[in-house]
Amino acid sequence: MPVTTLTVCPGRENHAWRRAEAVGEPHDLSPRYGDPIHCARCTADAHRQLAELPELVAAISLEATHGSRGPKVGTIGRTTNVAAWPGQASRLLTDHIVGGMLELEDDIRELRQLHTRPGRRTEGAALTAATRFLAAHLHWALTNHPAAQEPHDRDSANPAAQIAGWHRAAERFTARDNRLEHYRVPCPRCSLLTLCKADGDEYIGCRNTACEVLLTSTEYLDHVRTLAATTHHEESGLAKISNAA
Ligand SMILES: [Zn+2]
Ligand SMILES: [Zn+2]
Repeated sequence: MPVTTLTVCPGRENHAWRRAEAVGEPHDLSPRYGDPIHCARCTADAHRQLAELPELVAAISLEATHGSRGPKVGTIGRTTNVAAWPGQASRLLTDHIVGGMLELEDDIRELRQLHTRPGRRTEGAALTAATRFLAAHLHWALTNHPAAQEPHDRDSANPAAQIAGWHRAAERFTARDNRLEHYRVPCPRCSLLTLCKADGDEYIGCRNTACEVLLTSTEYLDHVRTLAATTHHEESGLAKISNAA
């Protein structure tokens, strides 16, 4: 009989556990295990997020044509180094998501030795077909894909992490991620006021897509304390200078 070993789910819920294990000190965190690789919740999330992507991508392009979030304010006097054209952000995000989905489809076709993807399709038709293909192969992708066990970090090749990343970016762009608790303390990595905790998440995450740092509540509290101590130190330093003057 083969020996069955439990696999820790590569999802973001085990981020704190992985970090604690990497430090190598005793901790009382227990991970969520996969069934067989991803846990039931991460599997269900991947299916839901993938199914929602076509509608989210459509909403992204509507932002560009109808400006449903209203005109962007506060651009007067702001210098930009990058030339922007109307709808550029929405175009870039659509390319990122649709391009990524097609790449994942091609990747799975190659790995499973299937026919190559039919070419010469409109973007909409390619997106619909890719969503169907990925949904049909999602179980395989979450279990047998060579990157299926990669932790869900930014830049992870894990298909579930990629789907979650596209979904997160699309929800942010269309301002649908409103079930967020905003933490008004600068991010320890990128220093922006972008720290948030989503409903049901056990960690605090940075919404800056170039950062996406994840913190446990303990790490967050440590960061706040360090920040408070630094500020206090800087303020007392200033006080000394003004006294001397
Ligand atoms: Zn999981
Ligand atoms: Zn950050």
